[in-house]
Amino acid sequence: MKKNYLLTPGPTPLPAQVLEALALPIIHHRTPQFQAVLKEATEGLKYVFQTKNDCFILASSGTGAMEAAVANLLSPGDVAVTIQGGKFGERWTELCKAYGVVPEVIDVEWGKAVDPQEIDKKLKANPKIKAVFTTLCETSTGVTNDIEAIGKVVKNYTAVLAVDAISGLGAIDLKTDDWSADVVVSGSQKGLMLPPGLGFISISAKAWKLIENAKSPRYYFDLRKAKKAIDKTDTPFTPAISLITALNQSLKMLKEDGLENVFLRHRKMAQAAREAMRALGLELFAPQAGSDVVTAVKVPDNLDGEKLVKTMRDAYGVTIAGGQAELKGKVFRIAHMGYIAEFDIIIGISCLEKVLHQMGYKFDLGAGVRAAEEVFLK
Ligand SMILES: *Cc1c(COP(=O)(O)O)cnc(C)c1O
Repeated sequence: MKKNYLLTPGPTPLPAQVLEALALPIIHHRTPQFQAVLKEATEGLKYVFQTKNDCFILASSGTGAMEAAVANLLSPGDVAVTIQGGKFGERWTELCKAYGVVPEVIDVEWGKAVDPQEIDKKLKANPKIKAVFTTLCETSTGVTNDIEAIGKVVKNYTAVLAVDAISGLGAIDLKTDDWSADVVVSGSQKGLMLPPGLGFISISAKAWKLIENAKSPRYYFDLRKAKKAIDKTDTPFTPAISLITALNQSLKMLKEDGLENVFLRHRKMAQAAREAMRALGLELFAPQAGSDVVTAVKVPDNLDGEKLVKTMRDAYGVTIAGGQAELKGKVFRIAHMGYIAEFDIIIGISCLEKVLHQMGYKFDLGAGVRAAEEVFLK
């Protein structure tokens, strides 16, 4: 028998309450019964987004919400700043190109956070820039960007700030309104403890002005249609009924804990993971801007990083993530988000130690687990 543990930065494990909700009989969506579910979900999302802005639930993965942001805000020929410091920042650039939007790319070294002054320089140099696309947690490198500081810069311009918070929402702080994040997108399978399949997007008054004038083609993701519908507690198309029903369960859990405690739990798990890696003599990929969502760790020289991840998964049932794109084989990533808790982290570290030991890496067996436990005991 092999027991499976999921420690990846999406999808994350699911709480029993969520699984139960997913198993309920389907109801029809044009009914007062579903309207109550949708209303509760939309309001619960506003709590997690920390916003009074409109929030929409889309039937798509997180990238669908990213596409909705680009397609609704901009017109072909518009200029937008994209911040690239990993695979997901690059996705903003790719989406802009797909819609004929001209990206003004800020290339950040992978493993580092963007300097908000770089954004200020771009916006100052070109007043035609209509939007800035950035990432809260760059999941491919484990870096958190300072959205509060970026918001302080962007709010002085006509450009809107759009934030990919797909892996950060419900795990680390993002004060949508206080930090002037005009558009925030997220997805269901990360901090929100749900299966993949829902995209979320919030829209500020400043962003609505752009949306009303934008000329990019859009149909399924037309947020004007979504707005008309939600004002009547409805959706333009068949919503993902079961997922939204389950969303209310995960939102309930987040509310019961309180966001501050949720963030604290993530912070502690991240600290434990980082201390464990140091104790094992491993180097963090993003030592300065490491996120509380996922920890990226450099694979030691002479070790096969892909084999390490594969052995943990196939031999012992512990799934962590490898590196993506240019980091393939060079890093591994341990997630500490969503329905992952203290002892899941201990299991992950313990399995990592076992495989490192088997691969001939020299370290003091148990040192990682001990370092993590010491953090949790504090
Ligand atoms: C997971 C992730 C995505 C992609 O989301 P999908 O749900 O796979 O479309 C985008 N951005 C970030 C930061 C992510 O963590």
